[in-house]
Amino acid sequence: MTTRVCRACDEPITDPDNGVVVAHEAGNSGPGWDVYAHKAHADDVELIDPDLLRIMIRIWAVKAAAQ
Ligand SMILES: [Zn+2]
Repeated sequence: MTTRVCRACDEPITDPDNGVVVAHEAGNSGPGWDVYAHKAHADDVELIDPDLLRIMIRIWAVKAAAQ
């Protein structure tokens, strides 16, 4: 079993009872994966738009490659 990491604070979720699935991301060439967060942080994660995040990651990648 892999360690679940909170999407909101990037800390590992050591207690499974303290983690919740906040989203399911589809993989480009795989089955995708569940996104977890601490119960206390689940509301913070929901503020992030997955499509917007994907666009931002693409922009960051382009900027990083241009440097
Ligand atoms: Zn957290």
